[in-house]
Amino acid sequence: MTTRQRTTHSAEETMQAGREIAALLRTPLLLILRGDLGAGKTTLTKGIAAGMGAAAEDDVTSPTFTLVHEYPGGTMPLYHLDLYRLQKERELAALGIDELREGAIVLIEWGERFPLLVAEADGEIAIAHCEGDSRTITLTLK
Ligand code: ADP
Ligand code: MG
Repeated sequence: MTTRQRTTHSAEETMQAGREIAALLRTPLLLILRGDLGAGKTTLTKGIAAGMGAAAEDDVTSPTFTLVHEYPGGTMPLYHLDLYRLQKERELAALGIDELREGAIVLIEWGERFPLLVAEADGEIAIAHCEGDSRTITLTLK
């Protein structure tokens, strides 16, 4: 198990942290992005996508309604999921997450709601909302 932690003080700093995290990632990889609403999960994903050359930061938006956003054009395919609106664990099967992760990086917001997914994940990036604009970002790989 490896853990890395850092604290950021702005959205820009979190995106920079994401660009640095991107350099550490190897496929196949499924990570839960854990943190409250507004913690910075999507902001961090912008940096990771940019670091992978998959998308410009401004082009990465929350997949709240579509559940999955796909960024195929980077060094590795990236899938960004937000399962906030998913009701039941059995609905996960329809998303085909096992197939998505083949040769790709899969980042899942609100994945911790589903124990099955936590069990299958390679690790997580937890973002804790501290005072003001401070966030503590902890990457844990199993
Ligand atoms: P989530 O996806 O976790 O719900 P978002 O990334 O959509 O969160 O939103 C985070 C919000 O907090 C953005 O408006 C962002 O500008 C703001 N913010 C302020 N400070 C930070 C920080 N240090 N890291 C990330 N976001 C921050
Ligand atoms: Mg989000």
